[in-house]
Amino acid sequence: MSIPSLADLHALGAAQQPSYPDRAAVDAAVERLRTMPPLVFAGECDELKSKIAAVSRGEAFLLQGGDCAETLAGVTADNVRAKLRVLLQMSVVLTYAASVPVVKLGRLAGQYAKPRSSDFETRTLADGQTVTLPAYRGDAVNGYDFTPEARTPDPQRLVDIYNASAATLNLVRAFVTGGYADLRQVHTWNQDFVKGSPFAAKYDALAGEIDRAMAFMRAIGVADADEFHRADFHSSHEALVLEYEHALTRIDSRTEQPYDVSGHFVWIGERTRQIDGAHVELMSKIRNPIGVKLGPTTTPDDALALAARLNPDNEPGRLTFITRFGAGRIRDGLPPIIEKVTAEGVSVAWICDPMHGNTFEATSGYKTRRFDDVLDEVQGFFDVHRALGTWPGGLHVELTGDNVTECLGGGEELTDADLANRYESVCDPRLNRVQSLEMAFLVAEMLRKA
Ligand code: PEP
Ligand code: MN
Repeated sequence: MSIPSLADLHALGAAQQPSYPDRAAVDAAVERLRTMPPLVFAGECDELKSKIAAVSRGEAFLLQGGDCAETLAGVTADNVRAKLRVLLQMSVVLTYAASVPVVKLGRLAGQYAKPRSSDFETRTLADGQTVTLPAYRGDAVNGYDFTPEARTPDPQRLVDIYNASAATLNLVRAFVTGGYADLRQVHTWNQDFVKGSPFAAKYDALAGEIDRAMAFMRAIGVADADEFHRADFHSSHEALVLEYEHALTRIDSRTEQPYDVSGHFVWIGERTRQIDGAHVELMSKIRNPIGVKLGPTTTPDDALALAARLNPDNEPGRLTFITRFGAGRIRDGLPPIIEKVTAEGVSVAWICDPMHGNTFEATSGYKTRRFDDVLDEVQGFFDVHRALGTWPGGLHVELTGDNVTECLGGGEELTDADLANRYESVCDPRLNRVQSLEMAFLVAEMLRKA
């Protein structure tokens, strides 16, 4: 299959692209990226695809999570370790509850570009002056500081985020194969969580069950197996900036097929899923497993058209629909889509993103989400799938391993007044470590009934 040129893609009208002031500098950055080694191997993408095929058959559950937007400054050992740790902890709880493998997918090592609802941001400065600058589009594009220098899109950043992704992935690969992800150790972290705080005691029963299961496996000798020592982990990000994704799309020597080697799994966002648009065109050419976000305006025919364009051979594991309707709309909005897609025999994994349909501005001015709304959307997702006899295949969440204060509620009962304490996201609010673990225990209960 041939790869369309960048010029052909831009001619389709690409949404959400940076306005670079210097085209020659863009070309130079793209040429540099084309010489860089792949971040992931095509064979790894195929392995992930076969695992997602199991999700679409109802034989596995997918957990996808990480920052809304990674930052270059956030590439530290502590930060990456904390994120990995919370994802592994969540996956142990979910694996036990679902009694099926949990496919672990980080929103990391490439999640640096953001779609924005407005191209510009206006602020009133301390001296009363009103200033309008280009919106922050993620560290892949420009800087977060509200200055003309920082906000001007700089193509050298595409090379910088390649390097940052390589460093992140290197660390993740070392962690997951080097014993850090040992199941016994991860379970001990969960025990600490359950013992450590008063509200977490309500998860004691499930943690106790996992304890006994682990003891049983130790007793019969399976706990020394290799699978206990290492974890499967893959990278993912939104494929947004065409220059970056195109420069990292390569022909695999084994299969002679194109793969986007910037990450194992890439997805098309809610704002770039136009059926004739550049993102759908490029993603239709690569062989990675891919996702598409489906928001509340999606019609059943939109979903069918996307499936036909992106997965014409109906290959299992190739396509994941990540639904993000909002707690108030999922119970009415999702069923017609699932019904039509299922009736047409389309193979797809259904994943719930309970974050992006539930964002609002708090009275303090911070962008936030309520833990209860997030949970309610997940509950709606499970209810809809149970009613239709389809498999609620997984969760897509924005989270961090740190104790930030960005989302409201949860066992610690964070309030609007708490948001200012530790609000660190440069984009959307994330569940903190405690909220993420709570989510895993609560979703575990839902999975047991699914
Ligand atoms: C995101 O995942 O951060 C995002 C922007 O999501 P969506 O495309 O669903 O709005
Ligand atoms: Mn987001």
